[in-house]
Amino acid sequence: MDNLEFLHETEKVSGEKISTCYQCYKCTNGCPVAAEMDIVPHRIIRHIILGNKEKVLTSKSIWTCLQCITCSVRCPNDIDVARIFDALRKISVKEHCEADKDTWLFDSFFLDSVRKHGKLHELEAIMNYKLAKRDLFSDAKMGIGMFLKGRMGILPHNVKDRKQLREIFKKIVGERLGR
Ligand code: SF4
Ligand code: SF4
Repeated sequence: MDNLEFLHETEKVSGEKISTCYQCYKCTNGCPVAAEMDIVPHRIIRHIILGNKEKVLTSKSIWTCLQCITCSVRCPNDIDVARIFDALRKISVKEHCEADKDTWLFDSFFLDSVRKHGKLHELEAIMNYKLAKRDLFSDAKMGIGMFLKGRMGILPHNVKDRKQLREIFKKIVGERLGR
Protein backbone atom coordinates (compact mmCIF):
# COMPACT_ATOMS: atom_id res chain seq x y z
CA MET A 1 0.00 0.00 0.00
CA ASP A 2 1.43 3.40 -0.89
CA ASN A 3 1.26 6.17 1.68
CA LEU A 4 -1.71 7.90 0.09
CA GLU A 5 -3.91 4.83 -0.23
CA PHE A 6 -5.28 5.00 3.32
CA LEU A 7 -5.92 8.74 2.98
CA HIS A 8 -7.84 8.17 -0.24
CA GLU A 9 -9.83 5.29 1.26
CA THR A 10 -10.82 7.32 4.32
CA GLU A 11 -11.72 10.34 2.17
CA LYS A 12 -13.90 8.11 -0.01
CA VAL A 13 -15.73 6.42 2.88
CA SER A 14 -16.23 9.67 4.84
CA GLY A 15 -16.80 11.98 1.88
CA GLU A 16 -14.48 14.52 3.56
CA LYS A 17 -11.43 16.29 2.11
CA ILE A 18 -9.05 15.27 4.89
CA SER A 19 -5.92 16.42 3.10
CA THR A 20 -6.97 20.06 3.53
CA CYS A 21 -6.45 19.91 7.32
CA TYR A 22 -3.88 22.48 8.46
CA GLN A 23 -3.48 21.16 12.01
CA CYS A 24 -4.95 24.10 13.89
CA TYR A 25 -5.98 21.81 16.84
CA LYS A 26 -9.45 23.38 17.11
CA CYS A 27 -11.10 19.96 16.84
CA THR A 28 -9.04 18.59 19.72
CA ASN A 29 -9.46 21.71 21.85
CA GLY A 30 -13.25 21.37 21.71
CA CYS A 31 -13.48 17.59 22.09
CA PRO A 32 -15.13 16.65 25.42
CA VAL A 33 -13.39 13.26 25.56
CA ALA A 34 -9.93 14.18 24.22
CA ALA A 35 -8.41 13.44 27.63
CA GLU A 36 -9.70 9.86 27.37
CA MET A 37 -8.30 9.27 23.89
CA ASP A 38 -5.04 7.50 23.07
CA ILE A 39 -4.71 9.67 19.93
CA VAL A 40 -6.46 13.06 19.95
CA PRO A 41 -8.57 14.13 16.93
CA HIS A 42 -6.11 16.43 15.11
CA ARG A 43 -3.41 13.74 15.51
CA ILE A 44 -5.77 11.11 14.07
CA ILE A 45 -6.21 13.36 11.05
CA ARG A 46 -2.45 13.80 10.76
CA HIS A 47 -1.84 10.04 10.96
CA ILE A 48 -4.38 9.46 8.20
CA ILE A 49 -2.56 11.95 5.97
CA LEU A 50 0.77 10.26 6.75
CA GLY A 51 -0.69 6.85 5.88
CA ASN A 52 -0.32 5.35 9.36
CA LYS A 53 -3.24 3.02 8.80
CA GLU A 54 -2.62 0.43 11.52
CA LYS A 55 -2.02 3.05 14.17
CA VAL A 56 -5.32 4.77 13.35
CA LEU A 57 -7.50 1.69 12.87
CA THR A 58 -6.36 0.01 16.09
CA SER A 59 -6.73 3.21 18.08
CA LYS A 60 -9.22 3.26 20.95
CA SER A 61 -10.00 6.90 20.13
CA ILE A 62 -12.27 6.07 17.23
CA TRP A 63 -14.48 4.17 19.70
CA THR A 64 -14.16 6.76 22.46
CA CYS A 65 -15.66 9.41 20.17
CA LEU A 66 -19.21 10.35 21.21
CA GLN A 67 -20.22 11.64 17.77
CA CYS A 68 -21.16 14.95 19.40
CA ILE A 69 -19.89 16.82 16.27
CA THR A 70 -18.27 19.62 18.31
CA CYS A 71 -15.08 19.09 16.31
CA SER A 72 -16.95 19.31 13.01
CA VAL A 73 -18.64 22.57 14.00
CA ARG A 74 -15.36 24.08 15.24
CA CYS A 75 -13.24 23.18 12.21
CA PRO A 76 -12.41 26.41 10.33
CA ASN A 77 -11.71 24.31 7.26
CA ASP A 78 -15.19 22.76 7.18
CA ILE A 79 -13.95 19.21 7.73
CA ASP A 80 -16.58 16.96 9.33
CA VAL A 81 -14.21 15.27 11.78
CA ALA A 82 -17.01 13.29 13.47
CA ARG A 83 -17.91 11.78 10.13
CA ILE A 84 -14.28 10.79 9.64
CA PHE A 85 -14.32 9.00 13.00
CA ASP A 86 -17.46 7.19 11.93
CA ALA A 87 -15.80 6.18 8.65
CA LEU A 88 -12.76 4.89 10.57
CA ARG A 89 -15.03 2.66 12.67
CA LYS A 90 -16.52 1.27 9.51
CA ILE A 91 -13.11 0.58 7.94
CA SER A 92 -11.71 -0.97 11.14
CA VAL A 93 -14.68 -3.36 11.42
CA LYS A 94 -14.35 -4.27 7.75
CA GLU A 95 -10.69 -5.10 8.30
CA HIS A 96 -11.37 -6.91 11.61
CA CYS A 97 -8.96 -4.76 13.59
CA GLU A 98 -11.32 -2.74 15.78
CA ALA A 99 -9.92 -2.00 19.23
CA ASP A 100 -13.32 -2.04 20.87
CA LYS A 101 -15.75 -4.69 19.65
CA ASP A 102 -18.31 -3.98 22.39
CA THR A 103 -19.20 -0.48 21.18
CA TRP A 104 -19.83 -1.72 17.65
CA LEU A 105 -21.87 -4.66 18.91
CA PHE A 106 -24.07 -2.49 21.12
CA ASP A 107 -24.39 0.11 18.36
CA SER A 108 -25.64 -2.62 15.98
CA PHE A 109 -28.37 -3.78 18.37
CA PHE A 110 -29.31 -0.18 19.19
CA LEU A 111 -29.78 0.68 15.51
CA ASP A 112 -31.59 -2.60 14.76
CA SER A 113 -34.11 -1.78 17.47
CA VAL A 114 -34.66 1.76 16.17
CA ARG A 115 -34.97 0.44 12.64
CA LYS A 116 -37.62 -2.10 13.71
CA HIS A 117 -39.72 0.08 16.01
CA GLY A 118 -38.97 3.68 15.13
CA LYS A 119 -37.54 4.24 18.59
CA LEU A 120 -35.29 2.34 20.93
CA HIS A 121 -36.80 -0.64 22.73
CA GLU A 122 -34.29 -0.73 25.57
CA LEU A 123 -35.09 -4.22 26.83
CA GLU A 124 -34.72 -5.79 23.40
CA ALA A 125 -31.43 -4.03 22.61
CA ILE A 126 -29.92 -4.83 26.01
CA MET A 127 -31.06 -8.48 25.96
CA ASN A 128 -29.67 -9.00 22.46
CA TYR A 129 -26.39 -7.43 23.54
CA LYS A 130 -26.24 -9.52 26.71
CA LEU A 131 -27.03 -12.74 24.82
CA ALA A 132 -24.34 -11.99 22.25
CA LYS A 133 -21.87 -11.38 25.07
CA ARG A 134 -23.12 -14.44 26.97
CA ASP A 135 -23.31 -12.27 30.05
CA LEU A 136 -26.90 -12.11 31.23
CA PHE A 137 -26.49 -11.26 34.88
CA SER A 138 -23.72 -8.66 35.36
CA ASP A 139 -26.09 -5.65 35.28
CA ALA A 140 -29.24 -7.45 36.40
CA LYS A 141 -29.70 -5.32 39.54
CA MET A 142 -29.60 -2.06 37.57
CA GLY A 143 -31.96 -3.53 34.94
CA ILE A 144 -34.50 -4.57 37.56
CA GLY A 145 -34.27 -1.08 39.13
CA MET A 146 -34.98 0.56 35.74
CA PHE A 147 -37.85 -1.82 35.12
CA LEU A 148 -39.44 -1.11 38.53
CA LYS A 149 -39.14 2.65 37.96
CA GLY A 150 -40.91 2.29 34.61
CA ARG A 151 -37.85 3.33 32.60
CA MET A 152 -37.72 0.07 30.64
CA GLY A 153 -40.91 -1.42 29.18
CA ILE A 154 -41.47 -5.06 28.26
CA LEU A 155 -43.19 -4.27 24.96
CA PRO A 156 -41.91 -1.91 22.24
CA HIS A 157 -43.77 1.25 21.24
CA ASN A 158 -43.79 1.32 17.47
CA VAL A 159 -44.06 4.53 15.46
CA LYS A 160 -46.91 4.59 12.94
CA ASP A 161 -45.05 5.14 9.68
CA ARG A 162 -42.41 2.42 9.78
CA LYS A 163 -42.30 2.17 6.00
CA GLN A 164 -40.95 5.70 5.78
CA LEU A 165 -38.50 4.87 8.56
CA ARG A 166 -37.18 1.88 6.64
CA GLU A 167 -36.61 4.15 3.65
CA ILE A 168 -34.65 6.59 5.82
CA PHE A 169 -32.49 3.77 7.18
CA LYS A 170 -31.91 2.41 3.72
CA LYS A 171 -30.78 5.81 2.48
CA ILE A 172 -28.72 7.06 5.40
CA VAL A 173 -27.75 4.38 7.91
CA GLY A 174 -27.31 1.61 5.35
CA GLU A 175 -25.02 3.78 3.29
CA ARG A 176 -22.95 4.97 6.23
CA LEU A 177 -22.61 1.66 8.05
CA GLY A 178 -22.61 -0.64 5.07
CA ARG A 179 -25.50 -2.71 6.46
S1 SF4 B 1 -10.08 21.74 13.31
FE1 SF4 B 1 -10.07 21.08 11.16
S2 SF4 B 1 -8.27 22.05 10.22
FE2 SF4 B 1 -8.05 22.18 12.47
S3 SF4 B 1 -6.82 20.37 13.04
FE3 SF4 B 1 -8.97 19.80 13.24
S4 SF4 B 1 -9.54 18.90 11.24
FE4 SF4 B 1 -7.63 20.04 10.95
S1 SF4 C 1 -17.44 14.06 17.57
FE1 SF4 C 1 -15.99 12.74 18.64
S2 SF4 C 1 -13.96 13.57 18.14
FE2 SF4 C 1 -15.47 15.14 17.65
S3 SF4 C 1 -15.58 16.46 19.46
FE3 SF4 C 1 -17.21 14.91 19.65
S4 SF4 C 1 -16.30 13.23 20.79
FE4 SF4 C 1 -14.60 14.51 20.08
